[in-house]
Amino acid sequence: MANFDFIIVGGGVIGMTTARELALRGASVAIFDKGKLGQEASWAAGGILSSMRPWAEHPVSAELSEQGKHLYPQYAVDLKNETGVDPEYVKSGLVIIESTHIAAVKQWAQSKRILFEECSSIPGMGLNIPKQAILLPEIAQLRPPRLLDALYKSLKSLSVSIFENSQITRLVTKHNRFESIETNGDKRVADNVIITAGAWSKVLLESIADDINIKPIHGQMLCVKGTEQLLDSILLDGGHYLIPRLDGHVLIGSTMEDTGFNKVTTATARRELMDWAISVCPAIEIAQLIKHWSGLRPSSDIEKPYIGPVSNIDNIYLNTGHFRKGILQAPASAKLLADMLSGESSFMDFEKLSIHQEQNVAKIA
Ligand SMILES: Cc1cc2nc3c(=O)[nH]c(=O)nc-3n(C[C@H](O)[C@H](O)[C@H](O)COP(=O)(O)OP(=O)(O)OC[C@H]3O[C@@H](n4cnc5c(N)ncnc54)[C@H](O)[C@@H]3O)c2cc1C
Repeated sequence: MANFDFIIVGGGVIGMTTARELALRGASVAIFDKGKLGQEASWAAGGILSSMRPWAEHPVSAELSEQGKHLYPQYAVDLKNETGVDPEYVKSGLVIIESTHIAAVKQWAQSKRILFEECSSIPGMGLNIPKQAILLPEIAQLRPPRLLDALYKSLKSLSVSIFENSQITRLVTKHNRFESIETNGDKRVADNVIITAGAWSKVLLESIADDINIKPIHGQMLCVKGTEQLLDSILLDGGHYLIPRLDGHVLIGSTMEDTGFNKVTTATARRELMDWAISVCPAIEIAQLIKHWSGLRPSSDIEKPYIGPVSNIDNIYLNTGHFRKGILQAPASAKLLADMLSGESSFMDFEKLSIHQEQNVAKIA
């Protein structure tokens, strides 16, 4: 006898949005995390609701990102109304200053009919950016810790069963079907399991699906506060960016380090981020450093996330491998998977993100 319709393994933004989507559709859902919910990559994220290089994004991933952008305004309002926690969704705009990509950005924006402005002077404290910089005014951001707090409250009110400090050590299968999970010496049964374990997904799937390749890419981030508002829009320069928050804090991101499951913050990264930030926004030199943190992005080898059933087992599903776009793509990924599980059509073809061709359709009670 199954305890739940769905067990979700991993309580980051992907697991929480997936749990919410399924619970809203009437399913009984349990979510497990090895620590507290929402404390890993999802907490560490900047909250930019755009790809780092939208003009060069894998077309399938781009479809998911577009749907994420489309869903977020209402998603943020719904969460705020439901929980009282405001994720601070703001259309702050994003300025691309990497001069070698300006032509490609313009061509992409024109072909996709995306609003852009060429801007020689952008409001801010004496910013040092090229004249050809491009502003994409429609790009938004939100604050991931607030989003996660709102999602947590939403899951509670939807009666999702939350198990924290519960590491899943084994997925038990029999005759190509998932039966139960093992955690802290306990066994929990469900009709289906969904793996949303971010950078740890491959570890969990090792004996079940060796065709899933996800690895951690370490990203370090700083937060500073100046005496005045330092800038209004997000500035993006290759992999580096500044994100101004409504309360005057500015995030400086981020490093990309292929160093396994190591989350140590380093003086070298702090210097790299500070040097770059001061070069584009000299006022940061005298700003106060508030915090330095890091997270492990789940990088997939296929330039798009894995969403759908695993190849050889009927009732194990994946929603993982969102790399640098997990916040942006979370509501869209959750919707896509829930549509698939409910046997409904969705905003894009399931095949494009599925791991194998046949679609398994689980019934939501
Ligand atoms: C510095 C940085 C900046 C970023 N900026 C942005 C941005 O601006 N915009 C954007 O869209 N994305 C951004 N990202 C990427 C984004 O954070 C990730 O894509 C997203 O958080 C992935 O979510 P997730 O739920 O898959 O992973 P996570 O948030 O890491 O959640 C996975 C969860 O699974 C749990 N878990 C793992 N193994 C087990 C197990 N065996 N049993 C139980 N639980 C387990 C973990 O404890 C964790 O809580 C950034 C990432 C970093 C690191």
